[in-house]
Amino acid sequence: MSTTEKATAPTVPDYPQTLGHPRPLWMLFMTEFWERFAFYGMRWALALYIVAEFFHGDPAGQGFASRTYGAYLALVYAAAVFGGYVADRIIGYQRSILVGAVVMAAGLFMIMLPDERIFLLGLSTVIVGNGLFKPNISSMVGRLYSVGDARRDRGFTLFYMGINAGALVSPLVTGWLASHFTDMPMQQNYKAVFLASGVGMLVSLVWFWIGRRQLGPVGRPAPEQAGRLRVVYVFLGCVLAIPLVFFMLGGGFSELVARALLDMGAIKPTVIDGAINYEKTLPAATVRAWVLGVLFVGLSALLLVEGFREGKVQRDRVFAMLIIFVFNVLFWMFYEQAGSSFNFLAQNIVDREMFGGWVFPVGWFQSVAPLSLVLLAPFVSLAWGWLDKRRMEPSIPRKFGLGLIGNALAFVVLMYALSELVDSRHLIPFWPLVMVYVLQTLGELCLSPIGLSMVTKLAPVRLVGFAMGGWFLSTGIGNNLSGIFAGHVSGETGMTVASALSGFTFSFWLLAGAGVLLFVIAPLINRLMHGVK
Ligand code: GLN
Repeated sequence: MSTTEKATAPTVPDYPQTLGHPRPLWMLFMTEFWERFAFYGMRWALALYIVAEFFHGDPAGQGFASRTYGAYLALVYAAAVFGGYVADRIIGYQRSILVGAVVMAAGLFMIMLPDERIFLLGLSTVIVGNGLFKPNISSMVGRLYSVGDARRDRGFTLFYMGINAGALVSPLVTGWLASHFTDMPMQQNYKAVFLASGVGMLVSLVWFWIGRRQLGPVGRPAPEQAGRLRVVYVFLGCVLAIPLVFFMLGGGFSELVARALLDMGAIKPTVIDGAINYEKTLPAATVRAWVLGVLFVGLSALLLVEGFREGKVQRDRVFAMLIIFVFNVLFWMFYEQAGSSFNFLAQNIVDREMFGGWVFPVGWFQSVAPLSLVLLAPFVSLAWGWLDKRRMEPSIPRKFGLGLIGNALAFVVLMYALSELVDSRHLIPFWPLVMVYVLQTLGELCLSPIGLSMVTKLAPVRLVGFAMGGWFLSTGIGNNLSGIFAGHVSGETGMTVASALSGFTFSFWLLAGAGVLLFVIAPLINRLMHGVK
């Protein structure tokens, strides 16, 4: 394609309709359900497994385990940038999804082996595979709807329900397996967890392998991308990328950066017991924040170059999309307290004793969000349809504003509980934390599926996968910052009612401010979108 020629949106085949949506939506729904089954089925066990297997249960391993977990979560989303690019420019979407599924399954089976290096290599393999899979399956959903089809946001909301159905079911299954297939009640069988996840990923692979015929030409490689040899190159690329990811995951990279900065005299060393402690000198999460930031700037630049090449309208749309990405970072930074500070809150500050002395397990709070999402998604989807009929459906930036405000309201509940409801044992009741998850989920439903849908509407046609990678990168940046923020809330000595109240008050003001700001500047962003709704 010449540089002056404008890329036009691909035409959508005349798909049969099932339950009001193109039939392949349901195939993508199930493929993603099983991939998320694999992803969330093992996620809860990662940090616990590291301590149990490689530190023989010594709590001193918790720091390393948390850092590895944080790095994993940030990198797994950042890898989507590369996966999206591979689909756009090298082998097409369908083949990227298939290669990604194979690589990810291989990684999941690798982490079963009880060797720390192989374990970290396995996690790196999961990251690379997921990078190829996750953005591209999401982009495919957008390709089922023609430009201007008002069902697109609803289609993505349903797809998102599949994501969360997987996230809800899998920890229940793998949690049961872990405690059932063990000789000693205090020791969980993590191998069973990883095995079940690997099998889930194989189901996803087979589901897509068979089901992809329904897609017709959508997501097939362009004629110039069709060669089989390209798939071999992508596999080789994955094999080369895995040690690189390994280097970042295990903290080797941040230590290298710390050494270089120390040599230059740019930072001061922190010495503990006579040796330099690199993690304290320059935390890996800080290095990662910079790396991800640079990646985001590079991605934005490339998308803008393509936007400029395609003309004013496309350029403006890229600007609008990038502005929304920045707000997305904020959303996930506070949403992901669910995996960190909210757990300390649940464990130490929430009164979990129920009827008859039974204590609600901390881990079960993790199911509240996906459960409410699956229950609420159909209603939100219906609400958009209902509002659309009355020409009142909020614009994309306003839906995002609602998402941020929903998230902010969750923190209002915590502020109220931590200032008004603390009892003589320094505990708050059970219900506020449940409300927090429900409100955050309502916000998530206004924002997250709409973001996926938005990318497929606003990205330059030739870089949809890459832009989708940018969407997940912004999530990854938010996840990384969430860990840094949670660290501040806990401080050196652990979370207290006072530290939680001050951290969560800050969260509220930032989220609410960002939400209101989006509402105010929505007309401006809409103008940049040039008619995209
Ligand atoms: N729960 C969603 C998923 O796993 C959230 C991911 C995201 O966009 N942050 O897909």
